[in-house]
Amino acid sequence: MSQIHDRFQTTIAGSLPKPAWLAEPNKLWPAWRASGAELERAKRDATLLWLKEQEDAGIDIVTEGEQSRQHFVHGFLEFVEGIDFSRKVKMGIRNNRYDAMVPVVSGPLRLKGRVHQVEARLAREHTGRKLKITLPGPMTIVDTIADEYYRDKVKLALAFAELLNQEARALEKDGVDVIQFDEPAFNVYLDDVKRWGIEALHRAIEGLKCTTCVHICYGYGIQANIDWKKTLGGEWRQYAEIFPALAKSRIKQVSLECINSKVPIELLKFLKGKDVLVGVIDVATDRIESAEEVSDVIEKALQYVPAKHLFPCTNCGMAPMDREVALKKLRALAAGAALARKKLGNRGQSPISAKSRRKKTRR
Ligand code: ZN
Repeated sequence: MSQIHDRFQTTIAGSLPKPAWLAEPNKLWPAWRASGAELERAKRDATLLWLKEQEDAGIDIVTEGEQSRQHFVHGFLEFVEGIDFSRKVKMGIRNNRYDAMVPVVSGPLRLKGRVHQVEARLAREHTGRKLKITLPGPMTIVDTIADEYYRDKVKLALAFAELLNQEARALEKDGVDVIQFDEPAFNVYLDDVKRWGIEALHRAIEGLKCTTCVHICYGYGIQANIDWKKTLGGEWRQYAEIFPALAKSRIKQVSLECINSKVPIELLKFLKGKDVLVGVIDVATDRIESAEEVSDVIEKALQYVPAKHLFPCTNCGMAPMDREVALKKLRALAAGAALARKKLGNRGQSPISAKSRRKKTRR
Protein backbone atom coordinates (compact mmCIF):
# COMPACT_ATOMS: atom_id res chain seq x y z
CA MET A 1 0.00 0.00 0.00
CA SER A 2 1.32 3.46 -0.82
CA GLN A 3 1.72 6.08 1.89
CA ILE A 4 -0.68 8.95 2.50
CA HIS A 5 0.74 12.34 1.55
CA ASP A 6 0.63 15.56 3.53
CA ARG A 7 0.42 17.91 0.55
CA PHE A 8 -1.14 17.71 -2.90
CA GLN A 9 -3.41 14.94 -1.59
CA THR A 10 -4.95 13.20 -4.56
CA THR A 11 -8.61 12.33 -4.95
CA ILE A 12 -11.10 11.61 -7.74
CA ALA A 13 -14.32 13.32 -8.76
CA GLY A 14 -16.21 10.21 -7.70
CA SER A 15 -17.23 7.50 -10.14
CA LEU A 16 -15.16 4.68 -11.61
CA PRO A 17 -16.07 2.23 -14.40
CA LYS A 18 -18.10 -0.80 -13.40
CA PRO A 19 -16.46 -4.18 -14.08
CA ALA A 20 -18.11 -6.04 -16.97
CA TRP A 21 -19.45 -8.68 -14.58
CA LEU A 22 -21.34 -5.99 -12.63
CA ALA A 23 -22.85 -3.91 -15.43
CA GLU A 24 -22.55 -3.20 -19.14
CA PRO A 25 -19.19 -1.48 -19.69
CA ASN A 26 -18.59 1.94 -21.30
CA LYS A 27 -22.10 3.21 -20.64
CA LEU A 28 -23.36 6.17 -18.68
CA TRP A 29 -26.56 4.28 -17.87
CA PRO A 30 -25.53 0.60 -17.83
CA ALA A 31 -27.83 -2.38 -17.29
CA TRP A 32 -26.96 -4.52 -14.26
CA ARG A 33 -25.71 -8.04 -15.04
CA ALA A 34 -27.51 -9.69 -12.12
CA SER A 35 -30.40 -9.07 -9.76
CA GLY A 36 -31.37 -9.65 -6.13
CA ALA A 37 -28.76 -11.04 -3.76
CA GLU A 38 -26.35 -11.79 -6.61
CA LEU A 39 -26.37 -8.14 -7.68
CA GLU A 40 -25.76 -7.01 -4.09
CA ARG A 41 -22.74 -9.35 -3.89
CA ALA A 42 -21.40 -8.08 -7.22
CA LYS A 43 -21.73 -4.43 -6.09
CA ARG A 44 -19.87 -5.28 -2.88
CA ASP A 45 -17.06 -7.04 -4.75
CA ALA A 46 -16.67 -4.15 -7.21
CA THR A 47 -16.56 -1.61 -4.37
CA LEU A 48 -13.79 -3.51 -2.58
CA LEU A 49 -11.87 -3.98 -5.82
CA TRP A 50 -11.83 -0.25 -6.57
CA LEU A 51 -10.92 0.69 -3.00
CA LYS A 52 -7.86 -1.54 -3.29
CA GLU A 53 -6.99 -0.23 -6.76
CA GLN A 54 -7.22 3.39 -5.58
CA GLU A 55 -5.04 2.72 -2.54
CA ASP A 56 -2.44 0.83 -4.56
CA ALA A 57 -2.42 3.54 -7.24
CA GLY A 58 -1.65 6.09 -4.52
CA ILE A 59 -4.95 7.97 -4.25
CA ASP A 60 -5.10 9.66 -0.84
CA ILE A 61 -8.83 10.39 -0.51
CA VAL A 62 -10.78 7.47 -1.96
CA THR A 63 -14.41 6.91 -2.99
CA GLU A 64 -16.59 3.80 -3.33
CA GLY A 65 -16.43 4.43 -7.09
CA GLU A 66 -20.22 4.74 -7.29
CA GLN A 67 -20.34 0.99 -7.97
CA SER A 68 -23.78 0.62 -6.36
CA ARG A 69 -25.68 3.16 -8.44
CA GLN A 70 -26.73 3.10 -12.05
CA HIS A 71 -26.62 6.86 -12.60
CA PHE A 72 -25.39 9.77 -10.50
CA VAL A 73 -28.82 11.43 -10.20
CA HIS A 74 -31.19 8.49 -10.50
CA GLY A 75 -29.18 6.43 -8.00
CA PHE A 76 -30.56 8.91 -5.46
CA LEU A 77 -34.04 9.40 -6.92
CA GLU A 78 -34.75 5.66 -6.70
CA PHE A 79 -34.92 6.12 -2.93
CA VAL A 80 -37.32 9.05 -3.01
CA GLU A 81 -41.07 8.74 -2.47
CA GLY A 82 -43.28 11.16 -4.41
CA ILE A 83 -41.76 10.46 -7.82
CA ASP A 84 -43.72 8.61 -10.49
CA PHE A 85 -41.17 6.45 -12.32
CA SER A 86 -43.87 4.68 -14.36
CA ARG A 87 -44.52 7.91 -16.24
CA LYS A 88 -41.54 9.41 -18.01
CA VAL A 89 -41.70 12.61 -20.02
CA LYS A 90 -39.27 14.04 -22.51
CA MET A 91 -37.46 17.10 -21.19
CA GLY A 92 -34.65 19.26 -22.51
CA ILE A 93 -32.05 19.29 -19.76
CA ARG A 94 -29.01 21.52 -19.05
CA ASN A 95 -30.87 24.36 -20.80
CA ASN A 96 -31.91 22.07 -23.69
CA ARG A 97 -28.38 20.79 -24.37
CA TYR A 98 -29.90 17.33 -24.68
CA ASP A 99 -33.25 15.60 -24.28
CA ALA A 100 -33.81 12.95 -21.67
CA MET A 101 -36.80 10.89 -20.60
CA VAL A 102 -37.31 11.92 -17.01
CA PRO A 103 -39.69 10.80 -14.22
CA VAL A 104 -42.30 13.14 -12.74
CA VAL A 105 -42.61 14.52 -9.21
CA SER A 106 -46.24 13.75 -8.35
CA GLY A 107 -46.48 14.20 -4.58
CA PRO A 108 -44.64 15.34 -1.45
CA LEU A 109 -41.02 14.15 -1.42
CA ARG A 110 -39.78 11.82 1.29
CA LEU A 111 -36.84 9.41 1.62
CA LYS A 112 -37.86 5.74 1.61
CA GLY A 113 -34.83 4.90 3.73
CA ARG A 114 -31.06 5.08 3.59
CA VAL A 115 -29.58 5.64 0.12
CA HIS A 116 -25.85 4.84 0.36
CA GLN A 117 -25.56 3.18 3.77
CA VAL A 118 -24.45 -0.25 2.57
CA GLU A 119 -21.58 0.92 0.37
CA ALA A 120 -20.50 3.72 2.71
CA ARG A 121 -20.23 1.38 5.71
CA LEU A 122 -18.55 -1.29 3.60
CA ALA A 123 -15.97 1.17 2.31
CA ARG A 124 -15.44 2.58 5.82
CA GLU A 125 -14.71 -0.90 7.18
CA HIS A 126 -12.18 -1.63 4.47
CA THR A 127 -10.07 1.49 4.13
CA GLY A 128 -8.08 3.56 6.57
CA ARG A 129 -7.91 6.43 4.10
CA LYS A 130 -10.20 9.41 4.01
CA LEU A 131 -13.45 8.42 2.34
CA LYS A 132 -15.58 10.58 0.09
CA ILE A 133 -19.18 9.88 -0.98
CA THR A 134 -20.92 11.91 -3.67
CA LEU A 135 -24.56 12.98 -3.91
CA PRO A 136 -26.28 14.85 -6.74
CA GLY A 137 -26.74 18.56 -6.02
CA PRO A 138 -30.25 20.03 -5.65
CA MET A 139 -30.03 22.23 -8.77
CA THR A 140 -28.86 19.33 -10.93
CA ILE A 141 -31.65 17.09 -9.61
CA VAL A 142 -34.27 19.75 -10.35
CA ASP A 143 -32.84 20.00 -13.87
CA THR A 144 -33.18 16.24 -14.39
CA ILE A 145 -36.79 15.71 -13.33
CA ALA A 146 -40.25 16.95 -14.34
CA ASP A 147 -42.51 18.42 -11.66
CA GLU A 148 -46.29 18.41 -11.34
CA TYR A 149 -46.52 18.89 -7.59
CA TYR A 150 -44.38 21.74 -6.22
CA ARG A 151 -44.75 23.82 -9.41
CA ASP A 152 -41.84 26.00 -8.29
CA LYS A 153 -38.18 25.27 -9.01
CA VAL A 154 -36.85 26.78 -5.79
CA LYS A 155 -39.38 25.00 -3.57
CA LEU A 156 -38.59 21.74 -5.35
CA ALA A 157 -34.82 22.29 -4.95
CA LEU A 158 -35.21 23.02 -1.24
CA ALA A 159 -37.38 19.92 -0.81
CA PHE A 160 -34.63 17.80 -2.40
CA ALA A 161 -31.98 19.61 -0.34
CA GLU A 162 -33.84 18.54 2.80
CA LEU A 163 -33.63 14.88 1.74
CA LEU A 164 -29.97 15.22 0.73
CA ASN A 165 -29.27 16.69 4.16
CA GLN A 166 -30.95 13.73 5.83
CA GLU A 167 -28.77 11.27 3.90
CA ALA A 168 -25.61 13.39 4.30
CA ARG A 169 -26.02 13.51 8.10
CA ALA A 170 -26.40 9.73 8.15
CA LEU A 171 -23.33 9.29 5.92
CA GLU A 172 -21.35 11.43 8.34
CA LYS A 173 -22.42 9.05 11.14
CA ASP A 174 -21.27 6.12 8.95
CA GLY A 175 -17.77 7.62 9.12
CA VAL A 176 -17.59 9.38 5.76
CA ASP A 177 -14.98 12.19 5.75
CA VAL A 178 -16.02 14.17 2.67
CA ILE A 179 -19.50 14.62 1.20
CA GLN A 180 -19.52 16.03 -2.31
CA PHE A 181 -22.49 17.40 -4.21
CA ASP A 182 -22.32 17.12 -7.99
CA GLU A 183 -23.64 20.27 -9.67
CA PRO A 184 -22.96 20.12 -13.43
CA ALA A 185 -25.97 22.45 -13.77
CA PHE A 186 -24.00 25.23 -12.05
CA ASN A 187 -22.33 26.50 -15.22
CA VAL A 188 -25.61 26.54 -17.14
CA TYR A 189 -27.86 28.61 -14.88
CA LEU A 190 -25.46 31.26 -13.63
CA ASP A 191 -28.09 33.62 -12.22
CA ASP A 192 -29.97 30.81 -10.50
CA VAL A 193 -26.75 29.65 -8.79
CA LYS A 194 -26.55 33.04 -7.10
CA ARG A 195 -30.31 33.37 -6.53
CA TRP A 196 -30.98 29.95 -4.99
CA GLY A 197 -28.41 27.30 -6.05
CA ILE A 198 -25.98 28.00 -3.24
CA GLU A 199 -28.82 28.50 -0.76
CA ALA A 200 -30.08 25.00 -1.65
CA LEU A 201 -26.56 23.59 -1.11
CA HIS A 202 -26.40 25.31 2.27
CA ARG A 203 -29.63 23.59 3.21
CA ALA A 204 -28.12 20.25 2.07
CA ILE A 205 -25.00 20.66 4.28
CA GLU A 206 -26.77 22.08 7.35
CA GLY A 207 -25.39 20.65 10.58
CA LEU A 208 -22.57 18.69 8.92
CA LYS A 209 -19.15 18.71 10.57
CA CYS A 210 -17.39 16.65 7.91
CA THR A 211 -15.73 18.24 4.88
CA THR A 212 -18.18 19.40 2.22
CA CYS A 213 -17.46 19.76 -1.48
CA VAL A 214 -19.21 20.81 -4.67
CA HIS A 215 -18.18 19.41 -8.05
CA ILE A 216 -18.97 21.70 -10.94
CA CYS A 217 -18.13 20.81 -14.49
CA TYR A 218 -18.89 21.02 -18.17
CA GLY A 219 -19.92 17.37 -18.30
CA TYR A 220 -18.58 13.94 -19.19
CA GLY A 221 -16.96 13.36 -22.57
CA ILE A 222 -20.23 12.35 -24.25
CA GLN A 223 -21.03 13.69 -27.74
CA ALA A 224 -23.76 16.16 -26.67
CA ASN A 225 -21.29 17.78 -24.29
CA ILE A 226 -18.44 17.84 -26.79
CA ASP A 227 -20.73 19.59 -29.30
CA TRP A 228 -21.95 22.06 -26.69
CA LYS A 229 -18.41 22.92 -25.59
CA LYS A 230 -17.64 23.92 -29.20
CA THR A 231 -20.24 26.67 -28.90
CA LEU A 232 -18.70 28.21 -25.78
CA GLY A 233 -15.85 30.00 -27.53
CA GLY A 234 -12.11 29.94 -26.94
CA GLU A 235 -12.26 30.82 -23.25
CA TRP A 236 -14.84 29.61 -20.77
CA ARG A 237 -15.37 32.49 -18.38
CA GLN A 238 -18.76 31.35 -16.98
CA TYR A 239 -17.13 30.51 -13.66
CA ALA A 240 -16.02 34.12 -13.14
CA GLU A 241 -19.69 34.84 -12.37
CA ILE A 242 -20.24 32.12 -9.80
CA PHE A 243 -16.81 31.66 -8.15
CA PRO A 244 -17.05 34.81 -5.97
CA ALA A 245 -20.42 33.54 -4.68
CA LEU A 246 -18.96 30.08 -4.06
CA ALA A 247 -15.98 31.63 -2.27
CA LYS A 248 -18.44 33.29 0.14
CA SER A 249 -20.39 30.06 0.65
CA ARG A 250 -20.05 27.60 3.54
CA ILE A 251 -18.95 24.79 1.19
CA LYS A 252 -15.33 23.95 1.97
CA GLN A 253 -14.12 22.50 -1.35
CA VAL A 254 -14.73 23.12 -5.03
CA SER A 255 -13.91 20.47 -7.66
CA LEU A 256 -13.52 21.49 -11.30
CA GLU A 257 -11.90 20.52 -14.59
CA CYS A 258 -8.59 22.16 -15.47
CA ILE A 259 -6.48 19.98 -17.78
CA ASN A 260 -7.41 20.40 -21.47
CA SER A 261 -10.17 22.73 -20.35
CA LYS A 262 -10.80 26.18 -21.71
CA VAL A 263 -11.46 27.53 -18.26
CA PRO A 264 -8.74 30.19 -17.82
CA ILE A 265 -6.65 28.99 -14.88
CA GLU A 266 -6.48 32.49 -13.35
CA LEU A 267 -10.20 32.23 -12.53
CA LEU A 268 -9.11 30.04 -9.61
CA LYS A 269 -8.14 33.25 -7.82
CA PHE A 270 -11.87 33.90 -7.28
CA LEU A 271 -12.08 30.79 -5.08
CA LYS A 272 -10.05 32.38 -2.31
CA GLY A 273 -10.16 30.44 0.95
CA LYS A 274 -11.55 27.24 -0.60
CA ASP A 275 -9.85 23.92 -1.06
CA VAL A 276 -9.68 23.48 -4.83
CA LEU A 277 -9.84 20.00 -6.34
CA VAL A 278 -7.89 20.78 -9.48
CA GLY A 279 -8.78 18.50 -12.42
CA VAL A 280 -5.48 17.19 -13.77
CA ILE A 281 -6.84 14.09 -15.51
CA ASP A 282 -8.97 14.42 -18.65
CA VAL A 283 -11.90 11.99 -18.64
CA ALA A 284 -12.92 12.81 -22.23
CA THR A 285 -9.94 11.02 -23.78
CA ASP A 286 -8.40 7.56 -23.37
CA ARG A 287 -4.93 9.04 -23.74
CA ILE A 288 -3.01 8.62 -20.48
CA GLU A 289 -1.48 11.81 -19.07
CA SER A 290 2.24 11.82 -18.36
CA ALA A 291 3.45 12.73 -14.87
CA GLU A 292 4.93 15.92 -16.36
CA GLU A 293 1.58 17.02 -17.82
CA VAL A 294 -0.16 16.47 -14.50
CA SER A 295 2.59 18.23 -12.58
CA ASP A 296 2.46 21.19 -15.00
CA VAL A 297 -1.24 21.76 -14.29
CA ILE A 298 -0.56 21.59 -10.53
CA GLU A 299 2.21 24.15 -10.97
CA LYS A 300 -0.05 26.50 -12.95
CA ALA A 301 -2.85 26.20 -10.39
CA LEU A 302 -0.36 26.90 -7.60
CA GLN A 303 -0.07 30.48 -8.86
CA TYR A 304 -3.64 31.06 -7.67
CA VAL A 305 -4.29 28.34 -5.06
CA PRO A 306 -2.04 27.94 -1.99
CA ALA A 307 -0.50 24.46 -1.74
CA LYS A 308 -2.45 23.60 1.42
CA HIS A 309 -5.68 24.16 -0.50
CA LEU A 310 -4.67 22.28 -3.66
CA PHE A 311 -5.91 18.73 -4.23
CA PRO A 312 -5.06 17.11 -7.60
CA CYS A 313 -8.19 15.35 -8.90
CA THR A 314 -9.84 14.03 -12.07
CA ASN A 315 -11.78 16.50 -14.26
CA CYS A 316 -15.02 14.56 -13.79
CA GLY A 317 -16.31 11.06 -13.08
CA MET A 318 -14.78 8.09 -14.91
CA ALA A 319 -17.93 5.91 -15.01
CA PRO A 320 -18.25 5.62 -18.80
CA MET A 321 -14.53 4.87 -19.37
CA ASP A 322 -12.72 1.66 -20.12
CA ARG A 323 -11.67 0.00 -16.87
CA GLU A 324 -7.99 -0.41 -17.81
CA VAL A 325 -7.80 3.20 -18.98
CA ALA A 326 -9.32 4.43 -15.71
CA LEU A 327 -6.78 2.42 -13.71
CA LYS A 328 -3.89 3.88 -15.71
CA LYS A 329 -5.31 7.36 -15.17
CA LEU A 330 -5.44 6.81 -11.39
CA ARG A 331 -1.75 5.93 -11.52
CA ALA A 332 -0.98 8.95 -13.72
CA LEU A 333 -2.75 11.19 -11.20
CA ALA A 334 -0.65 9.86 -8.33
CA ALA A 335 2.57 9.94 -10.35
CA GLY A 336 1.95 13.54 -11.39
CA ALA A 337 1.28 14.63 -7.81
CA ALA A 338 4.46 12.85 -6.69
CA LEU A 339 6.47 14.63 -9.36
CA ALA A 340 4.99 17.99 -8.33
CA ARG A 341 5.97 17.35 -4.69
CA LYS A 342 9.50 16.57 -5.81
CA LYS A 343 9.84 19.40 -8.32
CA LEU A 344 8.26 22.15 -6.29
CA GLY A 345 10.07 21.38 -3.05
CA ASN A 346 9.13 23.94 -0.42
CA ARG A 347 6.97 25.83 -2.89
CA GLY A 348 4.59 22.94 -2.47
CA GLN A 349 4.44 23.54 1.29
CA SER A 350 2.05 25.95 2.85
CA PRO A 351 3.98 29.09 3.87
CA ILE A 352 3.25 28.41 7.55
CA SER A 353 4.52 24.84 7.60
CA ALA A 354 7.61 25.77 5.56
CA LYS A 355 8.36 28.50 8.10
CA SER A 356 7.95 26.26 11.12
CA ARG A 357 10.13 23.66 9.40
CA ARG A 358 12.90 26.23 8.99
CA LYS A 359 12.58 27.17 12.65
CA LYS A 360 12.89 23.54 13.65
CA THR A 361 16.07 23.01 11.64
CA ARG A 362 17.64 26.13 13.10
CA ARG A 363 17.05 24.96 16.65
ZN1 ZN B 1 -18.32 16.31 -13.71
